Amino acid sequence: MNTPKARQGFYAQLDENLATLRRDGLYKQERVIASRQGAEVVCDDGQTRINLCANNYLGLSGDETMVRAAVEATEEYGYGLSSVRFICGTQTVHKKLERALSEFLGMEDTILYAAAFDANGGVFEPLFDEQDAIISDALNHASIIDGIRLCKAARYRYRHNDMSDLEVQLHAAEGKRHKLIVTDGVFSMDGTVAQLDMICDLADRHGALVMIDECHATGFMGRTGRGTHEYRDVMGRIDIITGTLGKALGGAMGGFTAARREVVETLRQKSRPYLFSNSLAPAIAGASLHVLERLSASTDLRDRLHANTVHFRRAIADLGFTIKPGAHPIVPVMLFDAPVAQQFAQRLYELDVLVTGFFYPVVPMGEARVRVQLSAAHTSEQLDHALAAFKQAGLELGLLKS
Ligand SMILES: *Cc1c(COP(=O)(O)O)cnc(C)c1O
Repeated sequence: MNTPKARQGFYAQLDENLATLRRDGLYKQERVIASRQGAEVVCDDGQTRINLCANNYLGLSGDETMVRAAVEATEEYGYGLSSVRFICGTQTVHKKLERALSEFLGMEDTILYAAAFDANGGVFEPLFDEQDAIISDALNHASIIDGIRLCKAARYRYRHNDMSDLEVQLHAAEGKRHKLIVTDGVFSMDGTVAQLDMICDLADRHGALVMIDECHATGFMGRTGRGTHEYRDVMGRIDIITGTLGKALGGAMGGFTAARREVVETLRQKSRPYLFSNSLAPAIAGASLHVLERLSASTDLRDRLHANTVHFRRAIADLGFTIKPGAHPIVPVMLFDAPVAQQFAQRLYELDVLVTGFFYPVVPMGEARVRVQLSAAHTSEQLDHALAAFKQAGLELGLLKS
C-alpha cells in the first residue's frame, strides 16, 4: 500500500513494537484447531491432540446435545436480534435464561451481557460513585480492573487472598457511604479459591457488600455446581455475582450479573455495555438454558470433573512434578523457569498433548509453569496418555529423576 509519509511513522512504530514483543518472547501465537473443541482436538497440522488447556470444564463445548439445543433455539427464535435488549431485542428465551440463572445461583434476578468482560465493565459505574469505596483483590481479572476504572468510587487494593490486608483496607475505607469488596471466586492462574467465608465475615463486621466473579466456578464448584459461594457455604451472603456462559456452561460466549432485584433493575437502566450493545444470540440463550436444566437435574458432569481432577492431581504429583496444591481443575504444574516452561509445552505438543506455558509477566517472576485444565470429557485413557507424555518430556528435559 502506498502510505503518505505522515502516516508511515505510525505503522513503522507498530512494527517495531511487535518486533520487540517477538524478541522478548512475549508474542502470543494462536493455535488453530480444525475440529470442534473437546477432550481431543484436531489441530491444523491434521494431528489429534489431547486438550488440557480449555476452560471446557464440563466438556460441553463440542457436545452434540449443545449443538442440537443451539440449532433448535435458532430454528425457533432466528439467528439474531439486530437490536439492543431495551428496544426490540428481548425474547422469551432471554427472560427464561435470566430466571434459570437466578434460580441456579440462588439470587433474586439476573441480567445478560454479551460477555462477562462486559458484565464486569458495566457493573460498578451505575451502582457506585465518589462517595463510595471499592476494595479489590490485587489479582482480580482484567475486566474487573477496567470496570473499576470506569467508576468514580475510591479504590482500595488488598494483597492477593490476604485477609488481614483486606481488613486494613476496610479500615482505610471507613467513612465511605457504601463499601464493596470484590474478588474472583476462583483465580485462573493458580486455581486459588477465594476465602469467601472469611470475606463475608469481614464484610458483615465492616458493613460492606460482597461481589464475586464466578467465571471459573459456575457450573461445577460446590456440591451441586452453583459456584464458589456454595463451595464456601456462603449462599445468600453474596450481593453480586458476575459470570460467563463462555467457559463451563457451554463455552460459546455471553455473561451475566446476578444480584438483588434493585441492583439488576438499576443495571438494566444504566449499565452501558447492556444499553449500547446487541442482545445475546438466541442460539446461545437457548443452549445455556438447556445446560442449566441439565446441571439442575444431575451432578454427573461435575462429579466426573471432580474425579478427573483428583486423579490427575495425585498422579502428576506421584510422577515427581511440583503442583500448586488445591482442589480446582486448574492444575499449575510448576517449572519455575520461563524457557523451560516453553520447551516443556513444545515437547508435550510434539507428544500430542496441548498445554500452555505461562511465564512473567502473566505470572510472577520465577513462577513459570504449564497450566493444566481438566474436563469432565477427559477419559481415563486420555489422562493416562497425557501423564505418560508429561513423564517422557520431564525425563527428557531432566526435570524428573529416572
Ligand atoms: C474469562 C474471564 C472473564 C471474561 O469472560 P468472557 O465471558 O469471556 O468475557 C472475566 N472474569 C474472569 C475471572 C475470567 O476468568
